[in-house]
Amino acid sequence: MNREDFPILDSQVNGRPLVYLDNAATTQKPLSVIEKITECYLHHNANVHRGVHFLSQDATELHEGARRRVQRFINAGSSDEIIFTRGTTESINLVAYSFGEAFLKAGDEIIVSVMEHHSNFVPWQLLCERKGARLRVVDIHDDGTLDMDSLRSLLSEHTRLVCITQTSNVLGTVNPLEGIIREVHQAGVPVLVDGAQSVPHLRVDVQALDCDFLVFSGHKIYGPTGIGVLYGKRKWLDLMPPYQAGGEMIEKVTLEKTTFNVLPYKFEAGTPDFIGTVALAEALDYVDRVGIDRIAAHEKELLDYATSQLNAISGLKIYGESAHKASVISFLVDGCHPYDMGLLLDQLGIAVRTGHHCADPLMQRFGITGTVRASFALYNTREEVDTLVRGIDRVAGMLR
Ligand code: PLP
Repeated sequence: MNREDFPILDSQVNGRPLVYLDNAATTQKPLSVIEKITECYLHHNANVHRGVHFLSQDATELHEGARRRVQRFINAGSSDEIIFTRGTTESINLVAYSFGEAFLKAGDEIIVSVMEHHSNFVPWQLLCERKGARLRVVDIHDDGTLDMDSLRSLLSEHTRLVCITQTSNVLGTVNPLEGIIREVHQAGVPVLVDGAQSVPHLRVDVQALDCDFLVFSGHKIYGPTGIGVLYGKRKWLDLMPPYQAGGEMIEKVTLEKTTFNVLPYKFEAGTPDFIGTVALAEALDYVDRVGIDRIAAHEKELLDYATSQLNAISGLKIYGESAHKASVISFLVDGCHPYDMGLLLDQLGIAVRTGHHCADPLMQRFGITGTVRASFALYNTREEVDTLVRGIDRVAGMLR
């Protein structure tokens, strides 16, 4: 669907048509996003917020329009609750630092799940080490679904925050967040949602979810690299101290003391990536034009087709069998190292990811060191799934 919007998909790799199945790592960009970046540099480039001159005001309007665009996309109550960052990782580090500074003390606990990306694991581990707090880890079932009893057993009066992914980048599991957030809130604990793998693939409404924080990256939703989003409820953001200091985040600076700017600028020190924000807004426009529900339906069809085709390959095991799953398939084939499989598939023009996928605790949970992962986006086709399946068959024959 809409393949013609993505010029790079016409590439040849190793003399074969590119089959790009590494979308969970980053998505390709539609021409409209690429052109928007050029247009901004050609016609709208000046530093935002500070200037009285035309171009600065023009750039500021576009940049703040992008913030409102993000607000609408995830249905946040106010654009003041949208903080621009470099990506999911920086958004989580911001919360870990700032929320941790305000609310965490020795003896407190933070809960994550074993299926988290390192970005939603290591910042919390480091924070706990700094504060003398304890990191508790929710287990999963063998099929890759979250173990709710494990979560319930870990929630206690010591818990200060639960950090959980909406969609696993390895297993594809979509966690039932509405129920989880309701239960965690009943214990009086806020929830941070890692939306890196969910916002590009399903409709996410932060008010319906009632999450306290949501983070995601522009580059995984057809937008540019280096731009990401932190949504936070105002009641938390107001109480949290700045993460970085510098220009833009201040209200007044004297030799003795600095007071801070209002939301969202309190958390946006320095010149923001105002070209990135506008290009991200264009990517969100693009997704809306195609329709997120259509994208989800198309990807579900590809997932179901790929799952049935891959299951027919002898010796192939899929990791992650949740009934509610995003378009990510991780697998291993008996007798084939994932790295070798990835290298040889690349010879056939097929781009998949191999390794631990920045989820070492999850690999340890399954007693493996890595998998091969194919992940689909709106532009992938059944024919590409067929090419993948033929490729795996051929490579497995060579490696065994
Ligand atoms: N969380 C999840 C679930 C991811 O899949 C990723 C990237 O793969 C990240 C966080 C980190 O995203 P970024 O590298 O864009 O900060």
